[in-house]
Amino acid sequence: MVAKKYLIETWGCQMNEEDSEKMAGILKSIGYESATKREEADIIIFNTCAVRENAELKVFGNLGHLKTLKMQKPDLIIGICGCMMQQKGMPEEIKKKYPYVDIIFGTHNIHRLPELINNVKQANSTVIEVWEQEGEIVEGLPIERKSDIKAFVTIMHGCNNFCTYCIVPYTRGRERSRKPEDIINEIKDLAKKGYKEITLLGQNVNSYGKDLENMSFAKLLRMVNEIDGIERIRFTTSHPKDLTEDVILAIKECDKLCEHIHLPVQSGSTRILNKMNRKYTKEQYLDLVNLIRKHIPDVAITTDIIVGFPGETEEDFLETLDLVEKVRYDSAFTFIYSKRKGTPAAEYEDQVPEDIKHERFNKLIEVVNRIIEEKNATYKDKVVEVLIEEVSKTDETKLTGRTRTGKLVHFSSDNMNLIGKLAKVKITEPRNFILIGELQEIIR
Ligand code: SAM
Ligand code: SF4
Repeated sequence: MVAKKYLIETWGCQMNEEDSEKMAGILKSIGYESATKREEADIIIFNTCAVRENAELKVFGNLGHLKTLKMQKPDLIIGICGCMMQQKGMPEEIKKKYPYVDIIFGTHNIHRLPELINNVKQANSTVIEVWEQEGEIVEGLPIERKSDIKAFVTIMHGCNNFCTYCIVPYTRGRERSRKPEDIINEIKDLAKKGYKEITLLGQNVNSYGKDLENMSFAKLLRMVNEIDGIERIRFTTSHPKDLTEDVILAIKECDKLCEHIHLPVQSGSTRILNKMNRKYTKEQYLDLVNLIRKHIPDVAITTDIIVGFPGETEEDFLETLDLVEKVRYDSAFTFIYSKRKGTPAAEYEDQVPEDIKHERFNKLIEVVNRIIEEKNATYKDKVVEVLIEEVSKTDETKLTGRTRTGKLVHFSSDNMNLIGKLAKVKITEPRNFILIGELQEIIR
């Protein structure tokens, strides 16, 4: 019998990517194989993001495209899940506008996928199952990871911070930490399978363990550092209000912890930070950056920045540019504020006009990119440690990998056996977003 095939299309953050890997694992465990394009698939699942309106519009467009396919192949199962589905009214809207969608489910019930598929076979209209409340953490789900070298490991779910622009606390529920033994066992298993790099995931990893006894994020980092076989440990995301000196010291003292901290600032204006409910000032953020650099001089610091938050004046925006000049980020995700229904900021009356938001966004990108280019230029002639990850997507004669600081490096080699190895690479040509180098030697 020919196996049925699945295709999962993922929008949004690493959390969603990891959820998709779990769904792929679940589908494999019930006999599905992966498809490379929509036409081959017997089940197509869209894992959606609700953080900005743009992501939602893309999902709607893509759902529209599936209509013809469903007409040609009536047995095709179409599923949609993820953060968008946790928003009030969204499942009903999708059912009404796209009646050919078979399953709608939320972020808290992906483990129920096999039952939901079974239900579709018996139902004559869309199966909807969106749990509003987060339940117990489900451990032991099968997982089909995209890479053999790098793995995401969720250490905590949800968020308690309620930044006034953000939908995540409503779509992912309250903070819940996984037990350290479950995390450690998962990583030991990954090490046995040959994985070299682990990224610990959570919306606010620094509050890991607050709901457990005698546990903290710094403690967890030190425990993960002891696992043989793993070469590199990364984590994301850190909230500046919770990043403590003991975490900074763990990075300094643990050899596997990479010198890279993603530290979303969102704005450089204390007035706007206050309206965003971020719970730190511009000065406190800059002090934290100084403390990090005092302990880890070569650290790379990256960030997220929003422009055009309601009430942001030109002066507020200039504060953001000033902060960017002071911190000199290695990279930054820049966003135009997007109104999210159900969040406090969506109701604020002082929304910034679209043209001003775009103008500020372009100015910000100019400054951010100039600094990235200047920082990358300092890598010229340096020899860096690279974990070789894959053949370059744009040039088959090159291999790619990352430095410990997270910079993407390309170098010439057609030796596929080097994938998964740590190497010394001399940077010959730093560019805006990648560093071109020459392989010096394989470390191990
Ligand atoms: N938990 C992480 C944190 O606190 O930094 C990030 C979560 S969120 C998925 C990723 C980024 O999306 C945020 O850091 C923020 O910059 C951006 N973001 C969230 N809501 C947004 C909105 N309504 N408009 C524009 N950008 C938004
Ligand atoms: Fe959203 Fe703020 Fe939580 Fe990050 S910390 S997920 S930005 S509410």
